[in-house]
Amino acid sequence: PLCLFTGSIMAGEVPLYKDASAPVEARVRDLLGRMTLREKAGQMAQIERTVVSSRALTELGAGSILSSGGSAPHDRASPSDWASMVDDAQRLALSSRLAIPILYGIDAVHGHNNVLAATVFPHNVGLGASRDTELVRKIGEATALEVRATGIHWAFAPCVAVCRDPRWGRCYESYSEDPEIVSSLTTLVTGLQGQPPAGHPHGYPFLRSVRENVLACAKHFVGDGGTHKGINEGNTICSLEDLERIHMKPYIDCITQGVATVMASYSQWNGQPLHASRYLLTDVLKSKLGFQGFVVSDLEGIDRLSEPRGSDYRYCIALAVNAGIDMVMIPFRFEKFLEDLLFLVESGEIPVSRIDDAVERILRVKFISGVFDQPFSDPSLLDVIGCKKHRQLAREAVRKSLVLLKNGKNQNEPFLPLAKNARRILVAGTHADNIGYQCGGWTMSWNGDSGKITRGTTILEAIQESAGVETEVVYEESPTEATIETREFSYAVVVVGEVPYAEGSGDRTDLSIPLNGSDLITRVACEVPTIVIVISGRPLVIEPQVLEKVDALVAAWLPGSEGMGITDCLFGDHDFVGKLPFTWSRSVDQLPVHVGDDNYDPLFHVGYGLKCSELTVI
Ligand code: BGC
Repeated sequence: PLCLFTGSIMAGEVPLYKDASAPVEARVRDLLGRMTLREKAGQMAQIERTVVSSRALTELGAGSILSSGGSAPHDRASPSDWASMVDDAQRLALSSRLAIPILYGIDAVHGHNNVLAATVFPHNVGLGASRDTELVRKIGEATALEVRATGIHWAFAPCVAVCRDPRWGRCYESYSEDPEIVSSLTTLVTGLQGQPPAGHPHGYPFLRSVRENVLACAKHFVGDGGTHKGINEGNTICSLEDLERIHMKPYIDCITQGVATVMASYSQWNGQPLHASRYLLTDVLKSKLGFQGFVVSDLEGIDRLSEPRGSDYRYCIALAVNAGIDMVMIPFRFEKFLEDLLFLVESGEIPVSRIDDAVERILRVKFISGVFDQPFSDPSLLDVIGCKKHRQLAREAVRKSLVLLKNGKNQNEPFLPLAKNARRILVAGTHADNIGYQCGGWTMSWNGDSGKITRGTTILEAIQESAGVETEVVYEESPTEATIETREFSYAVVVVGEVPYAEGSGDRTDLSIPLNGSDLITRVACEVPTIVIVISGRPLVIEPQVLEKVDALVAAWLPGSEGMGITDCLFGDHDFVGKLPFTWSRSVDQLPVHVGDDNYDPLFHVGYGLKCSELTVI
């Protein structure tokens, strides 16, 4: 009995919480009963990989580590470098007094996108166009395997934002402007965590297999996609009814699937920051919706509760923890956080019961994740990263995500599919031969990058592979009119679009095609039949005179590593099936515009998308 009071483990005793066969709730209670307040506070912190020290893990007992923005152990780190880094941190955590393992979290938001040579799936906007719930579930499964192979137990996905304004820099992380579509694609949760058995208690976190599954994180609760003018981290102004109907709906589906964690949103609802909303985090999410996993703050999300940011840190911590944040993503201020949190509890500003509730939730998820029983990576799993099967799945996802917006100029002649073995074709545009651009943000780094950042097939390479042996494929990023005129091309494929970005760096007020895309399209299309492929995280503005000139137009979103998915449809091996997940407006002046609005008159409506046999009706 002494151990219950001192928390120490007596010689020869195997504590209940270490018994993998004991029920989770009994393990949670046993461990919680042995912890000091300081240890509990440590569990509530998530720190950045770069500031991990042996003191932070062994003495201070940080509960979790993240690679913020995907930060890798070093440049060009291999999957096994990742696994060693995670295992090293785990070893330190396990040498703490109670040997509580850490949870390592990462933004695996379109595959294990920070790891070199991993499969990069289309971003959510493309999956929204596929509307294929089973495909998204399978992507979750494949992603979980690749993440687990590196020893990581937790993916910060899915983003279930319902983006209501494409000016938002995170539009591409949203499946759709339509809550029903977003809800239906929360199957990613089941893919990542596994399918809970019938009768699994509502709201209780779930993980099927520690070898094959990872914890999911539904984010960013709630209303992140509804901010005024699509401003990142802005204010969502709406009634409770609209908040529930539009933005809350997908969380209900995630909770039903046993989602283990939920991340709070940087945004405000009617002026109140979500990180400070006891009503939404505790009364609604935990009590009303019955969520029994834990709530993690967003990165430095609590700092934003004071102005200047983080200036009154104690106040920020009290507000957030009392509101219902269980784990605080505080990448760089761990020791300050610990001291302040302890002070707040000792001075009665945060009740001990709130700390116990937070830690209970965190430990519950940790036991369920299997990290206590299988803390280290398994090198035999590494082969799965970027394997053929996953690349084929990604290729299928690419072709199902393509939306054919225009097909043919005159009434009885569809332009696509392209004939194979044309004599000479032109491939042009900034985005034709650029894996980095194809993958978008959250790929190898926070903002993504240009060029050969990871393994994959560019659209140019896919065309070279698929056009037919008799075809001469000429590639010029920005051909002159003279080149186009003199070379007698059968047709041209022009690939233009956005340059990668993430979060606020992608907020825009101008949605025209960047890098003079419209000029290039016009130049080429005046001389030769032209198909345009747009690579973008959202609908861009296409002027009527540009649209009129092109023979075919395809929205390919941010397709990821498998360019062959695009040629599968261009050359007619598969038909187009994608439907617009967002309204394609005529101009930014029309924004915000959503399906269901009075006088809805966009360029292309939600659900629009042609098949090869269909002609454009514009
Ligand atoms: C983003 C989250 C992300 C976190 C960790 C934040 O800036 O809003 O979506 O999970 O960073 O990288």
